[in-house]
Amino acid sequence: MEILEKVAYMKGLAEGLGLETKSKEGKLFTIMMDILDDMALELQDMRDRQGDLEDALDAVSEDLSDVESCLFEEEDGDEDSEGVYQTTCPNCEEDIFFDESILEDGAVKCPGCGKQLEFELDEPEADGESEEED
Ligand SMILES: [Zn+2]
Repeated sequence: MEILEKVAYMKGLAEGLGLETKSKEGKLFTIMMDILDDMALELQDMRDRQGDLEDALDAVSEDLSDVESCLFEEEDGDEDSEGVYQTTCPNCEEDIFFDESILEDGAVKCPGCGKQLEFELDEPEADGESEEED
């Protein structure tokens, strides 16, 4: 049970007991319950604000890690970039970098000599229409 609920429960209980609020003891209890009520509200408020702060901190932390990954990517480019492939042109021995989308196309143009390089994919091709082609 939350503190606020407990305080509300206590107040209800006090009312049910028919606490004589005008007696000295009754006044004391009433004041104590008011203080507890205030404290519970204050605590709830602090928790809410702490939650907001944590959310804000998380957002900042995420932004920071984005910045960090950007910086490190610029420093050593091909280290942890996924989906980037490399091949060497058999014609001019230029290193060629390309990603998956080009791999799916099945061919890449060498930036060094302009030769169209076709990939030999391991996947067996079903259609054997023109196998002998130079
Ligand atoms: Zn080439």
